Amino acid sequence: MTLRALYVDFDSYFASVEQQEQPELRGRPVAVVPVMTDSTCCIAASYEAKAFGIKTGTGVGEARQKCPELVCVHARHEVYIRYHHRLVELVESQIPVSAVRSIDEMWCALTGSWQSPARAEQIARNIKRVIAEGAGEYVRCSIGIGPNRFIAKQASAMNKPNGLKLIREGDLPQALHPRQLRDITGIGRRMEQRLQGFGIRTVADLCAADVHLMRKLWNGVEGERMYRRLRGEDLYEAPTERGSVGHSHVLPPARRNDADALKVLHRMLQKAALRLRDMGYHAGGMQLYVRHRGRAGWSRQTRFTATQDTVELEHALIALWRQRPALEPMAVGVALTRLVEHQQATLPLFGKLQSRNRDRLTEVVDQLNSRFGKQAAYFGAAHGALDEAPMRIAFTQIPDPDLER
Ligand SMILES: [Mg+2]
Repeated sequence: MTLRALYVDFDSYFASVEQQEQPELRGRPVAVVPVMTDSTCCIAASYEAKAFGIKTGTGVGEARQKCPELVCVHARHEVYIRYHHRLVELVESQIPVSAVRSIDEMWCALTGSWQSPARAEQIARNIKRVIAEGAGEYVRCSIGIGPNRFIAKQASAMNKPNGLKLIREGDLPQALHPRQLRDITGIGRRMEQRLQGFGIRTVADLCAADVHLMRKLWNGVEGERMYRRLRGEDLYEAPTERGSVGHSHVLPPARRNDADALKVLHRMLQKAALRLRDMGYHAGGMQLYVRHRGRAGWSRQTRFTATQDTVELEHALIALWRQRPALEPMAVGVALTRLVEHQQATLPLFGKLQSRNRDRLTEVVDQLNSRFGKQAAYFGAAHGALDEAPMRIAFTQIPDPDLER
């Protein structure tokens, strides 16, 4: 049995940092909010608030009803970023960090003698100790250890808060049975619906599926990979493998003009966004590609707060499109890049109030499309309306120096 990954996930990260910074908040139900109004929703809840059923995404009005003594704290993202950098340093003082997955998650590869269960657990306890000493005892994390990163992440979520859980290869896949389907990385809402169509309602049902059924469920090799991942195999994850989702199209001669090219791009973007949501991912970047007659292809990239919201993605597309050379387009392509798993994306700090309604709208559009075919419904070219609305300022991933200027 080999342990290969240790996953660190901070508990109620924003709320815990606030409790660390403001002693008067300790032991109290705290909600971190983007704006001080009841019509917004909580972007983080302390464990005391979670006991009242308040969680990320709960409307503030509803949260106050559930817990009248709730303390709402205005989000201070610069503080959370400062803590993040300190926390990465502290973990690194014990074991190299292989990758930072989001502002409050990172994982470390276990190698050599660190792979023994006793040693791995010791490292985990040391991490917790240096964090308590170096960042403060209110900033706590849950640590999962497992035979691959996927299992370690699942383990980190199974004993929250302040958890430490080790899953051995021999205990798989049964050790995952308490999880929900949607907790599994790679199972988004639509995938969950698809699984339910095959009578798979629990993780136990999923683990009972043989490799042939898994291939069928995922329409191909990704199902086999999921089968192996659930059993602790350490699969090589090529960065390009799901590094982007996109489409390109050579325009028929009659459609080689800006207006038609843009329509095609919108269609392709909406297809890619649907696929993104299907896979349970958010995209933090976009690449636009345009080929002109007799010229090398032109392309531009942009980065933004990771999202799966079609309207926001449309903003990014329009912004890129405006930069194109004024030439006749022959072929166009759009790709969503910098994909992050759904569970790692937290709600935007400064999201617009209507974003919850937009999520609902997106859901309805997806449902129409899954029932009546891919092009049954799509977002009309809302270009005019897109003009005024700037990309929102927020972060769900680690702030990138390029973006923080
Ligand atoms: Mg967390």
